[in-house]
Amino acid sequence: MIKRAILFGGKAIVSVLDTTTTVNDAIKIHGYSSSVAAAMGKALTMTAFMSAGFKGAGNKLTLIIDGNGEGGKMVLCGDFGAKVRGYIQNPKACEGRQVSVSDIVGKSGYLNVIKDFGLKEPYNGLSQIVNGNIDEDFAYYFTTSEQLPSAVALGVKMQDGKCVKAGGIIVQPMPNCSEEEIFILQDIVSNFTDVATLLSEKSAAEIVDFYFGHFEISHLPDIYEEYKCSCSKRRIEEMLLTLGKKEALDIVETQGQIQVGCEFCNSKYVFTKEDVQRMFK
Ligand SMILES: [Zn+2]
Repeated sequence: MIKRAILFGGKAIVSVLDTTTTVNDAIKIHGYSSSVAAAMGKALTMTAFMSAGFKGAGNKLTLIIDGNGEGGKMVLCGDFGAKVRGYIQNPKACEGRQVSVSDIVGKSGYLNVIKDFGLKEPYNGLSQIVNGNIDEDFAYYFTTSEQLPSAVALGVKMQDGKCVKAGGIIVQPMPNCSEEEIFILQDIVSNFTDVATLLSEKSAAEIVDFYFGHFEISHLPDIYEEYKCSCSKRRIEEMLLTLGKKEALDIVETQGQIQVGCEFCNSKYVFTKEDVQRMFK
């Protein structure tokens, strides 16, 4: 559930996300360790936030977070309507011991944001990882790459391998927002040191009203984010077609079939010799 509201008559937008269900769906698919779930939970929340603002059905977001941490590289995708998915190189990193999100993400590397609006060239933004906590890394990215000095507070609470609560509070100023107004908003967000606990006590709607209700507020329609993959047998077929007929038939001859797994949802697609011959007809 994503609650959004415009503040100061259009100078800033506050978004409050409760992504608990989405994070638990990701845990079910990928079997994350608790520490990886906390890191991927934050990253998926960020992906939901960034794709919630898309206006066109074909718009696509890809985030690559590579900070040389225990979890390895993280790749996340978001489609129009906050449909998100993601994978991490080592889904079971640091199993059985509690390490910080920064340890999973790593502290030296980069954050790559690719936004495809169906234009000739996709938007491609790159920034340094600040501390691997994801909150500060994205706040820095928005400030330096998009010139939007945003305040980001994300949180994931885990218990017995399940996500009890996950979400985030993000305030993004528009270019006409004054420095004083940005300062007031950042000051409020700096108090949200434990977003997951706050979301256990108050709903997303209550948080918006309680903390931001006095800033000339107007509510935007709710968005319901979900973990959803866009793969299909047809899409995998298109990918196999780029291999070329000879290469594809070679694999079928040596392995009996072609098996392709989707890294985002673990779906397996099997192509027989007959499938391959039909595809290349
Ligand atoms: Zn998939």
